Amino acid sequence: MDFSDTKEEAVFRAEARGWLEANAERRQGFETWTGRYGETDGLKRAKDFQARKAAAGFAAITWPVEYGGRGLAPISQVIWSQEEARFFVPRGFFEIGLGMCIPTLMAYGTEADKKRYVPKALAGEEIWCQLFSEPAAGSDLAGLRTRSVKSGDTWTINGQKIWTSGAHFCDWGVIVTRSDPKVPKHKGLTYFFLDMHSPGIEVRRIKQISGGSNFNEVYFTDVQVPDAQRLGRVGEGWGVSITTLMNERLAVGDVRGPDFEELFTLAKSLELEDGPAIRDAAVRERLADWYVKSQGLKYTRFRTMTALSRGQTPGPENSIGKLVTASKLQDVASFAMDLLDMGGAVLDPAVAPLRAAFQEALLYSPGSRIAGGSDEILRNIIAERVLGLPADVRVDKEVPFDELPTGRESPRAHR
Ligand SMILES: Cc1cc2nc3c(=O)[nH]c(=O)nc-3n(C[C@H](O)[C@H](O)[C@H](O)COP(=O)(O)OP(=O)(O)OC[C@H]3O[C@@H](n4cnc5c(N)ncnc54)[C@H](O)[C@@H]3O)c2cc1C
Repeated sequence: MDFSDTKEEAVFRAEARGWLEANAERRQGFETWTGRYGETDGLKRAKDFQARKAAAGFAAITWPVEYGGRGLAPISQVIWSQEEARFFVPRGFFEIGLGMCIPTLMAYGTEADKKRYVPKALAGEEIWCQLFSEPAAGSDLAGLRTRSVKSGDTWTINGQKIWTSGAHFCDWGVIVTRSDPKVPKHKGLTYFFLDMHSPGIEVRRIKQISGGSNFNEVYFTDVQVPDAQRLGRVGEGWGVSITTLMNERLAVGDVRGPDFEELFTLAKSLELEDGPAIRDAAVRERLADWYVKSQGLKYTRFRTMTALSRGQTPGPENSIGKLVTASKLQDVASFAMDLLDMGGAVLDPAVAPLRAAFQEALLYSPGSRIAGGSDEILRNIIAERVLGLPADVRVDKEVPFDELPTGRESPRAHR
């Protein structure tokens, strides 16, 4: 396929670049938004940027025009992302809401829901989070235990979620709950959206190794949710969750951080004991490996772009991108630390090479290998759906949820 822009694509690219030039500054190194502006001011500035981006028609390029989108083909979104990556813009605040929660609301919500929630989310006025994972339900999401019980037109929710990115600044959340424990685990789930300021919701921040605190534990005690905020039918929440997760798989392929180019630049500038790092045979060998991986990823991404430009949906092979990128990021960061020797301990962006991008990447890259599907889960997807290998063994699929062993029973119960 020819990867040069068509005439229409070139016009869109020029428009996108022009708007970004006028509204954002060019990216210099790997500075983060909250690193520069702090949490409170950073959120305020991010909302302001998002409002302008939405007003200019760049916040929802592929969405239907009636919901504030432009109705363009997905390839235009790829072009926008390529252009935006060159600029210093807020990242992460709106991705879960616009990338996963709102597309689910669009698929399952009423017309009134869409009119009420979509424009405010697009303009960054209201931010959304995803309340899926629990202490004992991550990869095996259908094993979740947060309960929902209906009485009249209201549901009462009790339980705990964890790793909820952004819950501390979000206004709305999507949540999957167990409404019927008497049927097999995938069948007794019901999905809602809810106001994060509801009485009974307690958000506790989790401190990360990087010093940041981007995700949370969220506790629910008798939280009341109107039945009108249910998405999908009672007991069919698994299907609704799959819609959210399919959108997540598309969103998370894009793991950002220092790559081959940055490592190459570092190796050229560093002096080791016996000369420049770039002349060292072991360093050159590792660089060659990552160059090959980067090229492989580039061509895999081209396959996705080809599918998008032909109006097709990228398939499960998209999982390869995330699997390879996330572990490569961790390897590259860890090798850069070796090269930097004692300098690796310097976290101050003002003095560390590349504004401490390798140090930061070393701390957040393990999370990238877990979020949006761990390495093992992605390998399972690739094995089953790309290579057609036999499926993982799932012995609990047909057993009523409340009959599954929890490990809390007496040892006798397992015999
Ligand atoms: C940065 C970050 C942000 C996140 N944000 C959110 C969020 O906003 N909302 C939300 O709901 N969740 C969020 N999560 C949680 C994330 O979805 C889960 O951490 C992930 O699904 C893995 O679940 P777990 O942590 O319970 O690990 P587990 O599922 O307990 O896995 C533990 C280990 O066992 C392996 N494993 C599990 N099952 C299998 C299997 N069948 N075959 C082989 N190996 C297996 C896993 O690969 C892993 O190595 C976030 C996580 C991170 C790291």
